[in-house]
Amino acid sequence: MSENIERIKCLIIGSGPAGYTAAIYASRADLKPVMYTGMQMGGQLTTTTEVDNFPGYPKGTDGTAMMEDLKSQAERFGTEVRFGLVTEVDFSKEVGGVHKVTVDGSTLIEAESVIISTGATAKYLGLESEQRLIGGGVSACATCDGFFYKGQDVVVIGAGDTAAEEATYLSNICNKVTMLVRKDYMRASKAMQHRVEKTANIEVKYNTELDEVLGDNVVEGVRAVNNQTGEKEVIDVTGLFVAIGHKPNTDIFKNVLEMDETGYLITKGKSTKTNLPGVFAAGDVQDKEYRQAVTAAGTGCMAALDAERYLGALI
Ligand code: NDP
Repeated sequence: MSENIERIKCLIIGSGPAGYTAAIYASRADLKPVMYTGMQMGGQLTTTTEVDNFPGYPKGTDGTAMMEDLKSQAERFGTEVRFGLVTEVDFSKEVGGVHKVTVDGSTLIEAESVIISTGATAKYLGLESEQRLIGGGVSACATCDGFFYKGQDVVVIGAGDTAAEEATYLSNICNKVTMLVRKDYMRASKAMQHRVEKTANIEVKYNTELDEVLGDNVVEGVRAVNNQTGEKEVIDVTGLFVAIGHKPNTDIFKNVLEMDETGYLITKGKSTKTNLPGVFAAGDVQDKEYRQAVTAAGTGCMAALDAERYLGALI
């Protein structure tokens, strides 16, 4: 542990739209926020393609560029953005108590208020062959890894907006994209479904699940199974993209903060207050319902206002 423990008014954990929006508001309120970005600086949007639905971008924007803009905006008002991972928390249960947070296993920070915006992480199916081949052809991020499959055939698992978006993105790079959808319909929005349907080199196989990923060190194909007929087929592909949803990044808050059965932090009423005073949660980490960049940004704003009011009431 470092000997000089840093004491700050407001700590923001996580650097997605929720974290940066909280930072903009907190720094403008003179809370002198310090943000620890986590390992994926900018959060999930840095792994998405175009963002067409964030208000204020009539022509759409690129997720990474948008996060860079948000970072610059937060820094302009004095937010200190630091690269680091919060590894342990010791939150006070008292109103006005100091929250102790360890970063990268060694740096200790004491914060009068904490805003948690750690987001969520992509889920995998959990098959042994899938896990073994992560990095060898199995990926959960088309924008990150799609380039490696230029002109090749790939499979996408899932039927939500992420899967539809990944399939559309990959269709521009790859020769053919096969989507495996476990039900007889897709959950994705109608607009995304239409995009998939209109794309000639995407084939959607309904009622179909992944049975196994084939290959020893790299993906050489997948075996799919029709869950109605039991019929199996091998699809020759070199890449497998898993797009089946996300898990909230709340492991370090287990037995500390109240969360639901799937690990999402619980906030009180229409506020961002957690069950502990001075600890607030914003963005996907507390929202399994809407999970949009704009709603995350909205709750980031709310968290900064809640933190400001909390600290103001202590004076
Ligand atoms: P979702 O939870 O919406 O969808 C997950 C998909 O994965 C579902 O179709 C589900 O199937 C499927 N799935 C889950 N487990 C398995 C499994 N074991 N085997 C096969 N399939 C499985 O997650 P998304 O990441 O797609 O989207 C999350 C949120 O983000 C949504 O609200 C979405 O609208 C939003 N989003 C918006 C975007 C945009 O507007 N540009 C882009 C991406 C996401 P089933 O339907 O059978 O349950």
